Amino acid sequence: MDADVLVVGAGPVGLLLASELALGGARVLVLERRSDLAAEPIKQGEMGARSLNAPSVHALRRRGLLPNVRNAALMWWDPNDRPTAPPSDDEPPPFAGHFAGIMLRADRIDFEDPDLAGHEDGAGVIAQADLERILGDRARELGVTIRTGVTVTDVRQTADAVTAVTEDGPVSARWLVGCDGGRSVVRKQSGIAFPGEDAESVFRLALVDMTEPEKLLPGGMHECEGGYYLLGGWEMRLRPTRITTIEPGTGIDGDRDAPMTAQELQDSIRRVCGIDTEITAIHAATRYADTTRQAATYRSGRVLLAGDAAHVHSPAGGQGLNLGISDAMNLGWKLAAVIKGEAEESLLDTYTEERHPIGAWVQDWTKAQAAITRRDPRTKALRAVLTDLLDTKAGTTYVLKKIAGVALRYGLPGGHPLTGKLVPSRLATDDAATDGRFVLATNDPILTDLAAQWPNRITTVPQSPDGTSLLIRPDGIVCWASEHPESAPEQWPTWLGRPTAGRLPVAAT
Ligand SMILES: Cc1cc2nc3c(=O)[nH]c(=O)nc-3n(C[C@H](O)[C@H](O)[C@H](O)COP(=O)(O)OP(=O)(O)OC[C@H]3O[C@@H](n4cnc5c(N)ncnc54)[C@H](O)[C@@H]3O)c2cc1C
Repeated sequence: MDADVLVVGAGPVGLLLASELALGGARVLVLERRSDLAAEPIKQGEMGARSLNAPSVHALRRRGLLPNVRNAALMWWDPNDRPTAPPSDDEPPPFAGHFAGIMLRADRIDFEDPDLAGHEDGAGVIAQADLERILGDRARELGVTIRTGVTVTDVRQTADAVTAVTEDGPVSARWLVGCDGGRSVVRKQSGIAFPGEDAESVFRLALVDMTEPEKLLPGGMHECEGGYYLLGGWEMRLRPTRITTIEPGTGIDGDRDAPMTAQELQDSIRRVCGIDTEITAIHAATRYADTTRQAATYRSGRVLLAGDAAHVHSPAGGQGLNLGISDAMNLGWKLAAVIKGEAEESLLDTYTEERHPIGAWVQDWTKAQAAITRRDPRTKALRAVLTDLLDTKAGTTYVLKKIAGVALRYGLPGGHPLTGKLVPSRLATDDAATDGRFVLATNDPILTDLAAQWPNRITTVPQSPDGTSLLIRPDGIVCWASEHPESAPEQWPTWLGRPTAGRLPVAAT
């Protein structure tokens, strides 16, 4: 065996997953077809800007990576930076996000909403290349080997092993995770179905020089007869001009990887808004679409999927990377525990059980946005109604909570309001979580004794003043929370496996 786990793809999801596996004690080999990890313009600067939502920021904080990410960020929203008064008529309204291009105003957010409390780190925007650099450095520090310039062409598995076929020969491991993006070879070669819908809209994004950019002003999203265009990014910069066109109902014709010409982009702008432009240089450009598909299962035997390999959808609303980061956090500790014999293989089934419904929700969320970007008269009328609704406090807060991922909850056993949720940062258990162990927050000596039955797997910290003892999984999810410690001996082994020291007490009292 070349490793315990082969991770195919060194995108953000593959790199984070590799670190999580290594933290859990697995030997990890990453195979990546790119030779130069930092080379793609679509991942750099404003072209590659990716927004990070609350669960992603939570994950980065718990692993001690947040300071580096914040240093590299293009922009960061501090939740304490709240608009105190509505803007005057000549000021642009404060931007808080969007739904299908319908702007959400920060001064319409209900900051008293309980789901929005406890996310003190806010959210940010970082170039994907910078995030990959930070995650790659971390993975190497943890002993992960990253082999670049290696393309996986096939995957074969037996009862005990899985082999990635590459142009340089076979590479084998006990497990393989496909983090190889939306056109995943791992998924296809493993025969995992990928049901869903074909693209309806095509997006063209480019950094360009043009002779009269002011023809397209002002910055921001424009709704036009033939579709939409977005000028500038979250910050309006005019040189080079950043333009995105969205053409509903067209799909991508021909070779989507062929270089974009000035003529193609000028034609697209004219079709969308009827404006003739002269583009003199294209610095970087890409096309993408709103194809919406999800793997029927995230596991087939010894092969698993995470990130875009498991789900693709429109990037509208910035969910894909965030979804993949939470996939990696969910899978990493579980697979490592199975490899080390600390958990039964059935623990891996909870990966699809927990993550597939969240992926399905994101598919619906982006499909709803695609639907209201259509340009027929009925959809335009519906969009106008929705625009009014989103201009209310309740409407803005509802959408913002969905985008921010603050309402995430898995259906885990146990009735406590925190069970199945990300542990709130106010409970201050983060410093104990950098090594990827379970964290037990308690002052109860019986629970502390119980934790000793799993030596080296649980870090115990004092419980917060609100009196609840919590067991927090390595992915930051509260898996047991109760004022009644007697349920612990029965419920903890679901996540921790059989105890490896001492005897499990019949019941803690
Ligand atoms: C314009 C745009 C804006 C976006 N904005 C946001 C946003 O704001 N927020 C957000 O959450 N998401 C956003 N996304 C989505 C986000 O970029 C993706 O969801 C994310 O990159 C997925 O990460 P990944 O690691 O799963 O896959 P990828 O980033 O696609 O990485 C896959 C890796 O696998 C490698 N690979 C592929 N095939 C093979 C093979 N056969 N052998 C070896 N290696 C292989 C590739 O080279 C690549 O490095 C946006 C996407 C686009 C296009």
